[in-house]
Amino acid sequence: MPEYSNTIKHDLFCRKCNFNLKSKDKDGVCPVCDQPIAENYLLLIRSLQSKNAEHGVMYNRSLVNVAACSRLSLEDVHLVYQCFNLTVKLRTNPNDHQLHMDNLIHQISFEQLLDALTDVFYVLYGNEYHEALTEHGLANENTIRYLLTLMAIANIIPTKSQLAKDIGFDAMIVPNNHPLLRLQESSQASIHELRCVYH
Ligand SMILES: [Zn+2]
Repeated sequence: MPEYSNTIKHDLFCRKCNFNLKSKDKDGVCPVCDQPIAENYLLLIRSLQSKNAEHGVMYNRSLVNVAACSRLSLEDVHLVYQCFNLTVKLRTNPNDHQLHMDNLIHQISFEQLLDALTDVFYVLYGNEYHEALTEHGLANENTIRYLLTLMAIANIIPTKSQLAKDIGFDAMIVPNNHPLLRLQESSQASIHELRCVYH
């Protein structure tokens, strides 16, 4: 897993005034409105953790299926999925058109997602973040890669994307009898809804 870095290396738009905080320190304040920069991370993490988070029930059903096929708990599967969303949201200008976000969803890299995971754990656990990652079984990049592969099979993350490429999904042949596909069959409606959201 990447080490926590205190510098913001990507677009991050202040939730209060929309200023781009790229290259600023995460423990600093927004130079325009004085809002502590860490607040932006907290606000986003809270909004993603909310029970009413966007997409709702259909995602939950698919995430339960993914958790059932992995050795991780539903909570951890949720966490990684939220990090994917966070990676996109952090880079999106709240004033921009939805189209921008749709493009970003396909451009996010594996490395960027790992950075977001490190950031989330740092915000939640401070200097103990690495121990917390280990406790959650998420300290190993191969575990994350495996989990993302399951999410791609379940169509939760886009299969034609930088992320899918980075984890080698584009070169992978998924067997027809993969247990996740059988589980998904029993909830076809939800998969259809998922495609509508992402494509
Ligand atoms: Zn600001």
